[in-house]
Amino acid sequence: MSHQPGQGPVQITTEEIQARIQELARKIEADHAGRVPHLICVLNGAFPFFADLVRAIQMPVTVDFLQASSYGDAQESTGEVKLVKDLQFPIKDRDVIVVEDIVDTGLTLKYLMQYLEGRHPSSLRIASLLSKPSRRKAEITIDYLGFTIPNAYVYGFGLDRAQLDRNLPFITSEEPGSDE
Ligand code: 5GP
Repeated sequence: MSHQPGQGPVQITTEEIQARIQELARKIEADHAGRVPHLICVLNGAFPFFADLVRAIQMPVTVDFLQASSYGDAQESTGEVKLVKDLQFPIKDRDVIVVEDIVDTGLTLKYLMQYLEGRHPSSLRIASLLSKPSRRKAEITIDYLGFTIPNAYVYGFGLDRAQLDRNLPFITSEEPGSDE
């Protein structure tokens, strides 16, 4: 249960994350001129990215929170997703941006997008801090992507390692296939 950075291939510093968040915020502002985007944080992992992203956006926004079933301490998506916490506010006719920590297989977001589309938002876009395209099983278009990463287990900046390390202000990784 070490809190030292991992030795894997993905190392993204606090400065790099914050610089990218500013760029994504500018893009969100440009895409939503004259509108009030509604940002939905997918708990738990997206919370630091979400908090920094909404504060970087220099226009009125509203927020809500959604929680899908987590993997527990396992590292592999089952494709079975349950809503643990539903939205508080209606999204009909809203410009919705779903904010995720990472798109891995894409199965979680595929489920969530179908669920949200059924509530008839005016537009529905995705922001994700990270993407592992090599692992994709469902086709997902990420409108606002922080970083594309190789296939390694990453943690920090909201992402957990056995529920720990979400509070690291950077992203680090284990070697692919590592049990650590
Ligand atoms: P997907 O359904 O796209 O396979 O999985 C998405 C979820 O799996 C993420 O929201 C995250 O909770 C978890 N996940 C996928 N890859 C990683 C990873 O490398 N590190 C951590 N901590 N969680 C991951």
